[in-house]
Amino acid sequence: MSGGNSSWIARSNQVFIATYNRFPTVFVKGQGCVLEDADGQKYLDFLAGIAVCSLGHCHPEVTRAICEQAAKLVHVSNLFHTQPQTELAELLAAHSFADRVFFGNSGAEANEAAIKLARKYSGEDRFEIISLAGSFHGRTLATVAATGQPKFHQGFEPLPAGFLHAEFGDIAALEELISPRTCAILCEPLQGESGVRPLEKEYLEKIRRLCDGNSLLLIFDEVQTGIGRTGTLFAYEQLGVVPDILTSAKALANGLPIGAMLTTDKIAASFTVGSHASTFGGNPVAAAAAVATMKVMLADGFFAEVRSKGEYLAEKLSGLAAKYPKFALGQRGLGLIQGLVLTQAGIEQGQTIVQKLFERGVLINFAGNAVLRFIPPLVVSRDEIDILVNAVDRVLSELA
Ligand SMILES: *Cc1c(COP(=O)(O)O)cnc(C)c1O
Repeated sequence: MSGGNSSWIARSNQVFIATYNRFPTVFVKGQGCVLEDADGQKYLDFLAGIAVCSLGHCHPEVTRAICEQAAKLVHVSNLFHTQPQTELAELLAAHSFADRVFFGNSGAEANEAAIKLARKYSGEDRFEIISLAGSFHGRTLATVAATGQPKFHQGFEPLPAGFLHAEFGDIAALEELISPRTCAILCEPLQGESGVRPLEKEYLEKIRRLCDGNSLLLIFDEVQTGIGRTGTLFAYEQLGVVPDILTSAKALANGLPIGAMLTTDKIAASFTVGSHASTFGGNPVAAAAAVATMKVMLADGFFAEVRSKGEYLAEKLSGLAAKYPKFALGQRGLGLIQGLVLTQAGIEQGQTIVQKLFERGVLINFAGNAVLRFIPPLVVSRDEIDILVNAVDRVLSELA
């Protein structure tokens, strides 16, 4: 594949439906936290494919698992059993509250499965699902309907019925929406897309109690927070609240497409043969990559290191906020999903800051029109965190 960035960008602009606002670069390879483009320019990656490549790009264990499985068996459908898929389901069940797993190919598909299961379990008259304002649950019609951000709804109405949204952080507003038709409450333990907004522990506990008091299922969308991102395999482990259904995707296979819905034996029993299916879901290559990813993460000390590096990054971001009060209010996040919360003046410069960092060879994004979001590979080093923080420091000082 010859040609530099500009020729490939010109070609892609001719053929794609324009759904993405892409950075003007064409990546050709990656290793650890570093990406290289078609012009040979290197970038420090604090986006990790949107919290996907958590072991870094082309982690040797994952690459080996992919290559070995690709040489053996790529696809047979779910009409048959495969070894990697079963091994992955066992790992997920052994390291979570769940007993049973369903595999799809993405976060949205995992959430679709969760929505369908919640409705099936709860019976015909109970179909409503309450989610939170600011949430993001995917781009299929049902997950768009569940997403609590009107900008994702516009132009796609009528949306599937039965999705209600409660004001973020307001337990009374949530309680008011509960009716005899409600079957579940769906939320992210920390809202990633809308600006790295953690849900307070007490708030989550109250949500759990509301669910228990009204016989509702609690669904945690851990598509972004799961698989080590917050410093435990799943964020719920740190929050003292256990869901009934949990969805995972993004980092699960370190970059290959996969989604998983996890639940208990009791709830899983309402899905029977034919209730739900996926042609590709739990594909052997993706599953083998996920098994390799999980084994690396479950090794001793991995999550402790994520927490410690997360604290290091959080501390540095707090320092930046103190240094640039004009642009930043403070830091928030959990583990290695961190946000630098911007002031109004900072929000106005948000896209510019991201652009200037890009020009300096550092990749981050501006999330929820509120924060600079930092979601590096979990294998990031303290030196790489220092490089990132120094780059943000320079860019903010230029703008000040
Ligand atoms: C990314 C994301 C999704 C959607 O995942 P896709 O793989 O893009 O379908 C759903 N929920 C959350 C919290 C996400 O961050």
